[in-house]
Amino acid sequence: MTLFTDFGLAQPILKALSAEGYEKPTPIQAQTIPYAMEGRDVCGIAQTGTGKTAAFALPILHRLSETPKPRKHKSARVLVLSPTRELASQIADSFKAYGRNLRLTTEVVFGGVTISRQEKALMNGVDVLVATPGRLIDLVDRRALSLRDIEILVLDEADQMLDLGFIHALKRIVTLLPKERQSLFFSATMPKTISTLAESFLRNPAHVAVTPVATTAERVEQSVIFVQTGRKQVLLETLLRDPSIDRVLVFTRTKHGADKVVRGLDKAGIVGAAIHGNKSQPQRERALAGFRDGTCRVLVATDIAARGIDVEGVSHVINYDLPNVPESYVHRIGRTARAGATGLAISFCNDEEKAYLKDIEKLTRLKVPVMPLPEGLPAAPAASESSDPRREQSGRNGQQQRGRPAPHARGHQGHGQARSADPNADRGPKRRRGRGGKPAGNGQPQGGQPAGNQQRPAQAQRPAQGQRPAQGQRPAQAKPAGQRSEGRRGDGAQVAWLEKSPRRR
Ligand code: AMP
Repeated sequence: MTLFTDFGLAQPILKALSAEGYEKPTPIQAQTIPYAMEGRDVCGIAQTGTGKTAAFALPILHRLSETPKPRKHKSARVLVLSPTRELASQIADSFKAYGRNLRLTTEVVFGGVTISRQEKALMNGVDVLVATPGRLIDLVDRRALSLRDIEILVLDEADQMLDLGFIHALKRIVTLLPKERQSLFFSATMPKTISTLAESFLRNPAHVAVTPVATTAERVEQSVIFVQTGRKQVLLETLLRDPSIDRVLVFTRTKHGADKVVRGLDKAGIVGAAIHGNKSQPQRERALAGFRDGTCRVLVATDIAARGIDVEGVSHVINYDLPNVPESYVHRIGRTARAGATGLAISFCNDEEKAYLKDIEKLTRLKVPVMPLPEGLPAAPAASESSDPRREQSGRNGQQQRGRPAPHARGHQGHGQARSADPNADRGPKRRRGRGGKPAGNGQPQGGQPAGNQQRPAQAQRPAQGQRPAQGQRPAQAKPAGQRSEGRRGDGAQVAWLEKSPRRR
């Protein structure tokens, strides 16, 4: 296994990495850093969320720290080009975080804000400049910046650059750069247009690639159930009656939430264990051992605790709470699709989590099929009753996927490689949009809102679905995977519940 210490990175950088809580390099880091440290150009296929920022930032910081130079008026040693201002800011934050023990300066410039402050910031020169292409050219044209002294160029998210129409700006920028430089080029995809662009930037590059996070998502059968917080526990217990769910990882956002779920399962006579940061090492080991040997079918985990879990044969992942970091969703569901296996992931989504679901679908570029609530689902306990069953039953935009088979059973051929690291784990309750964001170590501590606190008090209580016997109703007990269990919902719509899923949307 590769470790950060294997790369020969300067001590202050390694120190910053431990402060960030990074234990081992992600696959893109393990592949890229050695080439970049040798001074080679790199052409990488990697998506956001794979840890690619550190893959280029760490060797760059190392090189700057090993070859200190006085800063030059209106110039920079490193130029990182980013398509959007959000990404540019996040990259700059990463450079600052990883370089916190070095005496280097990082500036970020992008359009849409007054240029004079940026001109001033560049006056004395900077070590690392992160820029969007348009504003960079404006600064060059105003003679506030020269690109003559750039030693290392990074072009990040090249495919987005082209999508956003930056091709001409990029072509102009490349003419302003010294020929003698190191270039690192990253793109989530590498169609012909991008590889042609890469050729114009790179010299004899090393090629690196990691499976896009989306690929993990593509090989896991997924579904989402819209459910109010107060009914999540009873929904979980109902799902767990399905014997085909033989080894299930349940994810909660908080440690408190994980304990609460396990207590609920215990009351329902279902053996489960929680694993999270507040558990002692022996407790964690016991829980994992039971999960591995099958004596404990249900392991309830927080993101950070799940990092170290590598158990084969996880049949299902259930997101009791949806993560606020979309990449975490992909890492979570990847637990059920290890080493080419296929897996099934079911997410519970309350009203507040619908925004997270949108972010997830944007990242994975997949619509998560909606599964109806199981018919006959008991109502929430009185204390946590908050649901409006009619609202729960409607899918995104109020659209229920009628009759759509639930993506429950196996039978989908996997491909590709799951990521081995989980850099987004345990980032705390703050919602993070898109990529980057605060590095893991800076995230808010876990243990924010207990899951049960998210519910709103019910305005006008209606009987929950389970209290209104529907025609032809059957017990909530699920059928083994592959068996069709068609029921009639309260509103008369035919639904297929927990049946074999032939395809995704
Ligand atoms: P990126 O793909 O660069 O946007 O990185 C995604 C997230 O992973 C960032 O928030 C980083 O803080 C985090 N990260 C990057 N590398 C590691 C690592 N080796 N271990 C843990 N977290 C990491």
